[in-house]
Amino acid sequence: MSIEHVKCLIIGSGPAGYTAAIYAARANMKPVLYQGQQPGGQLTTTNEVENFPGYVDGVTGPEMMVQLMKQAQRFETDVRDGWITKVDFSGPVHKAWINGETEIHADTVIISTGASAKYLGLESEQKYLKMGGGVSACAVCDGFFYRGQETIIVGAGDSACEEAHYLSKLCTKVTMLVRRDEFRASKIMANRVKNTENIEILFNTETVEVLGDDVGVTGARVKNNITGGVQDIPATGFFVAIGHKPNTDIFKEYLTLDETGYIVNVPGSSKTNVEGVFVSGDAADHVYRQAITAAGTGCMAALDAERYLASREGVEAVGVSNNYTD
Ligand code: NDP
Repeated sequence: MSIEHVKCLIIGSGPAGYTAAIYAARANMKPVLYQGQQPGGQLTTTNEVENFPGYVDGVTGPEMMVQLMKQAQRFETDVRDGWITKVDFSGPVHKAWINGETEIHADTVIISTGASAKYLGLESEQKYLKMGGGVSACAVCDGFFYRGQETIIVGAGDSACEEAHYLSKLCTKVTMLVRRDEFRASKIMANRVKNTENIEILFNTETVEVLGDDVGVTGARVKNNITGGVQDIPATGFFVAIGHKPNTDIFKEYLTLDETGYIVNVPGSSKTNVEGVFVSGDAADHVYRQAITAAGTGCMAALDAERYLASREGVEAVGVSNNYTD
């Protein structure tokens, strides 16, 4: 069986992957993009996107992803169904396997596999998440829909503190559920939350159930894990900020990852520790995690890949001419 060889393989179909594809395709790199298990990425679980520049009236997450895909296809990006299950970045040609079977070789690889928000795993939480009825893992994306209302946020890390503070500026009250008797967050972030009047922190508190009706969330039943006391807290938004898991497991043998699994890029670029392999979007970003920042780094990855190919072709051309004169 012959092995397909491509100039540019893009793994992942969120804003990072499609933006990389648009730039790579327009640079004549004939990118092949594999969509992965969740075509469209994390945004397909978001209802309304109001903070992506250019959409004056907002757009739904799935709709925006279809538009990005069509824009990438307009320049002849080859968008394919399929899941990259294994890679081998040990040689000059980068190898990848699709669905554990088909092998593909690539001169450049752009990783845009994103990260997945962690959830509590409660049935009620998943029900309202799927309904788009008040459960979210991104306060910056969805907080605006709860302005003037009461919300709950679970978590005690820097993200939870940052998001609780963000919500406090929009919501009348934010109840923060912390499972231990202390924060994991840095002191400065924890103090900011503690000093915000409309944030109530409940320590040693876990969620028993997300409460709601046919329309959406109405609150949460929580339990104090020391006293055993149970109470219902009213809220229309239930935010989960208990961390993200970057989708980078298949790369760990070859790429430098940080202690939480994010791909380490050369600062100010999309380069990884392997020549010809670039990273964009949330797979390397635990700080910003926005569609627009992912799109921006997708653009950077395509430009870096193009420059890498040009420099390699330059080197090869010199090699060829050397051979010629020999
Ligand atoms: P973290 O892993 O730091 O924190 C996760 C939090 O969620 C912990 O407090 C943990 O509790 C809690 N948690 C986990 N599982 C559950 C559960 N099932 N029920 C209730 N609570 C749970 O993740 P973050 O996303 O906050 O941060 C990730 C990294 O990004 C960190 O290094 C952070 O410093 C960094 N970051 C930096 C920012 C900044 O500098 N501006 C902003 C945001 C993130 P427990 O403590 O009990 O384990």
